This record gives sequence, C-alpha cells and structure tokens, in this order.
Amino acid sequence: MTAVIPDVSCPAVDARAFIGGRPVAARSGRTYADHSPADGRLLADVAECDAADVDDAVRAAREAFESGAWSRMHPQARKKALLRFVDLLSTHAGELALLDAFDAGKPITDCEDLDLPEAIETMRWFAEAIDKAYDQVSPTGEDALGLVIHQPIGVVGAVLPWNFPLIMLAWKAGPVLAAGNSLVVKPAEQTPLSALRFAQLATEAGIPDGVINVVPGFGETAGAALGRHMDVDMLAFTGSTEVGRHFLRYSAESNLKRVVLECGGKSPQVVMPDIAADLPALIEQMAFAAFWNMGENCACGSRILAHRDVVDEVTERLRTTIEGWRVGHPLDRSSRLGPLVEEQHMRRVLGYVETGRREGARVVTGGERILPELNGFYVAPTILGDVHNAMTVAQEEIFGPVVCVMPFGDEDQAIRLANDTPYGLASSVYTNDLNVAHRLARAIRAGTVSINCYSEGDVTAPFGGWKQSGFGGRDKSMAALHQYSETKTIWYAIR
Ligand code: NAP
Ligand code: MG
Repeated sequence: MTAVIPDVSCPAVDARAFIGGRPVAARSGRTYADHSPADGRLLADVAECDAADVDDAVRAAREAFESGAWSRMHPQARKKALLRFVDLLSTHAGELALLDAFDAGKPITDCEDLDLPEAIETMRWFAEAIDKAYDQVSPTGEDALGLVIHQPIGVVGAVLPWNFPLIMLAWKAGPVLAAGNSLVVKPAEQTPLSALRFAQLATEAGIPDGVINVVPGFGETAGAALGRHMDVDMLAFTGSTEVGRHFLRYSAESNLKRVVLECGGKSPQVVMPDIAADLPALIEQMAFAAFWNMGENCACGSRILAHRDVVDEVTERLRTTIEGWRVGHPLDRSSRLGPLVEEQHMRRVLGYVETGRREGARVVTGGERILPELNGFYVAPTILGDVHNAMTVAQEEIFGPVVCVMPFGDEDQAIRLANDTPYGLASSVYTNDLNVAHRLARAIRAGTVSINCYSEGDVTAPFGGWKQSGFGGRDKSMAALHQYSETKTIWYAIR
C-alpha cells in the first residue's frame, strides 16, 4: 500500500487558553508542542495551563454565573443565543473538521460526515430544549403546594478525551450551557485546538464572557486542579476508567463536587446463527463497530461473540471487509482509517497484539505498524482469532484497531460471555428472532444494546455506562439536561 501526504494545511488557531472571553497565555508562560499524529507536523504551541490558570478560569466562570448574565437569562433569550452559536459552528464546520482531523488523526471524511454534524446537532437539540423543559408540581393534599424546580448547578468542569474532540465537548457543553451553568473545559493534551476554536466562536456569537473557558494542559496538573478545585460545583469526566477513579478521589478530598464518569468499554457484538443469510449485509456494521475511528472509540464493539456455526464465516468475511478499508493519511479523502493518536498509544496497542499472541490468540490479519514513510502512527486493522474470554486481550480495553473473535455454543453462554467483563458501555446483537433479540437485550448488562446494527442511538437517547464504564449520569437526551441541574423543592403551606 502506498500513501501520500495531501497538500492541505491545518487552519491557524490562537492556541492560548481562553478565559473570561479572551485568549490568554498561561501564567507560567509555558507552552507545549502539539504535533499531528498523521505526519508529525507541528500544529501549534499550546498554552500549558496549570493550577494558577485553572483558578483564573474558575473565577471567570463563577463571576459569569453570579452575574446572572447567562444563568438567569430568560430561557428564550438563552435559546436564541445558543442557536446563534450553533449557526456560527455550522459556518465554521469545515475549519473545525480540519482541526480534529489534523489534531487527532481522524479521517477528514469522518470529521465532515459524522463528527461535525453530530456535534452541531447536539448543540442545536439542547438549545431548542431550553424553553420546552417543564418543572413539576408534586401531588399534595389541599393544604400544600409542592413545586419541584430545576436550577443550574454553577461552575461545571469538563475533562475530555482525544478520540472525538468536538463530539465529546458538545455532549457536555450542550446540556451544561442549556441548563444555565458556566463551563471550564480541560481538553485532552493531544487535541486542544477544536475546543479553543469552539470557545472563541461562542464569544463571537454573543455568549457572555466567562460562560465558556478552555484551559489546555496536562491531566496531572490542569486536570487535577479542576478536579480538586473548591469552587467547581460539578465535574464531568470522559476518559479511561483508571483516570475516572482519580476524579472520585479528588471530589472526596475537596468539596464533594458532583462527579459524572463516562469511561471505557469492552463491548460485545453477539452474532446468533439464524443471521447467517444476512451476514454479507451485516458484516460492514460489525467492521464499523470494531474499527471505526481506528477502534479509538469507547463504545467500540471489540469482542465479537459468534455462534460456533458461523464463527469461521464471520471471521473470514470480516477479514476481507477490513482488508478493503484503506488506511492512510487522514487528509487523504480515500482513507477510511488514519493513524493512532500518538506513538506511546501505538506501542501500547501493538503490545496488546503481542500479549494476545503469547496467550495463544491467532493473528488473522494485521498486527503490525504500517506506512512508516508517512512519519505517523499507523497500525493495520487487526483480527485476533482463537481468543477465549479470560485472555488479557479479551478483558482489557485496547482502544485501537484490534478485534477479538470468540465462539459460543448457546444463548446462555453468549450472555455469560457478553457480561464477563468489568465494563458495560455498549453492545450489539445480530438476530432475526425477535424473542432472542429481546431476551439478549434485557440480559446484557450495558448502557446501550443495539439490534442488527451498531449505534449509540441519536441525541434523543441517553448514552452512558454500567459497571466500570461509568456512572452518575448520562450524555445526550433530557437525562443530560437534568444531570447538569440541581433539583429544588419549594413547599407552600396553604391556609
Ligand atoms: P484518559 O487518559 O483517561 O484522559 C482523559 C482526560 O483526563 C484527559 O484530558 C487527560 O489529560 C485527563 N487526565 C489524565 N490523567 C489525569 C489525572 N491524573 N488527573 C486529572 N486528569 C487527568 O483518556 P484518553 O486516553 O484521553 O481517552 C481514552 C479513554 O476515554 C478510553 O478509556 C475510552 O473508553 C474513554 N472514553 C469514554 C467515552 C464514554 O462516553 N464513555 C467516550 C470517549 C472516550 P491528558 O490529555 O493530559 O492526559
Ligand atoms: Mg495533537
């Protein structure tokens, strides 16, 4: 396979922090180099924020909140302001797509066709929801009136991963801002650019200063400072289960801020034998679930559990399908897959393939670094066969283009294997038997079960994990709007 570096350049972004409605250098004056994983080019020298900058951002967010300029704005006015912002995001969609493609190494076609539309639709949906969400009157006797109202929480911190930079931001910013809160975002160190541009555009659209702040920097400094801050009321974290644990600790050791965690996964795709005739049509879904976004996807369908009557056919069809997906530079429009996000992560993923081999798995295809001439971190999509569920590769989240295929004998065993993981984020079931579909959908312990497809559902459906995939709330849907609001009871005695 040969690959080229297309002649496209990354849009310039002011890579200072964004605090109180304007770009500011880190107080320490420090920056870090942000390189593209696609070809190693330098994209920007980004402000390296630490606790002092987080203090500034939280102060700006608090002042904005207390002023009421956003938190007490009339719901219809807040809706209009957010919709203006959505329009501006739409105008700048091409630029934002380029930023995520260069920064995260995501194929530009995915950024344009999936990430940007979803991020924009999420923001629009929550903007529209603002003046349609009703509070409640409790069922009292005639001597009382109980009002149950929702109010913004205050300053919300968001610490984000690098795999879907804009979507993950929109999943937080949409409901956080719609509910009237102020936001301080710590993007992943690898992908700060689209979040900075997002905040700049929000200000341009007239969202009041201090309502959206972005502090790029490292997890151990900026992320921890936000997690431990005494004046942050709530922290929304998306990332690994390991780092999620830190945020519970930070909260316990500071002000008991509310914490919601969206963490990792090891999601099963269960293929029942009755589906055999439909395999040619469904295999693309299975491949998409496993390899979309280079497998750097929390809801990645990374364990394929196939009935023993179809496991060989599934493996073979998956192999021919994925060998047809072109891996290349993310700005090359013919690329279906790009590089992994950084060298260290690529080494980790290849290390898992080695571990799998050592534990007895068979590499059906892939398993190695490719395209070294691009100076990026490209890994061939990899299928591991002869896997059993106790192997490391079947238990741990690899977060790369590596799928494990395992056989099962009957429905009970399929359910046992599907649930034999510390995670519970997503799952797919492929069957034409409605009874089997419903039994499996109820039995699988995961936040989402998709039937005969791979999907997290759209913005109307809540998304989030069971077990060690996270807890405390949901992204998307009205559940997210309520999660970023406090509930208050107002009780009148009627005389
Ligand atoms: P990560 O290593 O957990 O990092 C996530 C964020 O936490 C980054 O901003 C990171 O900063 C920060 N961080 C790291 N160490 C920290 C610390 N000690 N204290 C405070 N903050 C810290 O995750 P990732 O590698 O970016 O993303 C991959 C993970 O995210 C996978 O496990 C994936 O499943 C999960 N994910 C889950 C969902 C979901 O909705 N459930 C969605 C997407 C991704 P740095 O950038 O400086 O490390
Ligand atoms: Mg980068």
